[in-house]
Amino acid sequence: MGLRRGKRRDPGTAPGASPADGTAAVELRGVRRRYGKGSGTVHALRGIDLALPRGSFTAVMGPSGSGKSTFLQCAAGLDRPTEGSVRLGGTELTELKENQLTVLRRTRLGFVFQAFNLLPSLTVEENVLLPTRLAGDRPDRRRAAEVLTQVGLGDKGHRRPAELSGGQQQRVALARALVTRPDVVFADEPTGALDSTTAAEVLGLLRSAVDRLGATVVMVTHDPVAAAWSDHVLFLADGAIADSVPGGDPGRIAARMRALTERRDTRDLTGAAL
Ligand code: ADP
Repeated sequence: MGLRRGKRRDPGTAPGASPADGTAAVELRGVRRRYGKGSGTVHALRGIDLALPRGSFTAVMGPSGSGKSTFLQCAAGLDRPTEGSVRLGGTELTELKENQLTVLRRTRLGFVFQAFNLLPSLTVEENVLLPTRLAGDRPDRRRAAEVLTQVGLGDKGHRRPAELSGGQQQRVALARALVTRPDVVFADEPTGALDSTTAAEVLGLLRSAVDRLGATVVMVTHDPVAAAWSDHVLFLADGAIADSVPGGDPGRIAARMRALTERRDTRDLTGAAL
């Protein structure tokens, strides 16, 4: 797979818009998440509304504590919102029981984490086939070989993770995320543990998964260079979507990020002075 950046989609079709086929890959309406009760209540998400079209690549940025992790957890069915609706490929997650959510996550979602999260005792091929096994389906070795080839590791199926470089391990994790042809791939700081060259390779593969395989990717990152590979960047601040810009230009993304962080720091300083 090449590392070419693909044609970007119109950022105007990002938050709030409806995709042409009527079913967004990810749709959140009025999503709120509170932790705790009474005066100690933390409002981690204060009403998120968005619809992400299939085949789009969205980056989510924001200062620390702005709600990025909570957003990802609610969108991926790992946490339940206090209020609101989360739909993945048209399925309302908030109505599912815990075991139904687990099945949905295993069969229709892919996950890529900063720490790769591969099982060291399994081969690369076994790691890639793990979601299939956990879903109770017959492991399809040909499918494993196909996705490993897509991430450039067609000859590494019999290796153990420890025999691979960090970038290669993250590519295995990406192959594992793609093996079930999921509705959405959620990536949480997928390049946080990689040097910039290796990070670009992994981001190029995520980009290719969107452009060539029609995957939908939602990626939390603090890195404007990583976010620039996306079609559009959503900025969270204080649990709400504060801004949205097209991907492509790391400088512009960094400037928006700085503005948000400075706004928060100024507010904190003002608050401290009172
Ligand atoms: P980010 O990922 O942008 O750093 P988080 O989603 O982790 O932000 O957190 C958003 C807010 O919710 C923060 O104020 C955080 O302290 C709070 N928060 C997150 N998880 C919990 C929890 N389990 N209990 C209480 N507060 C939490």
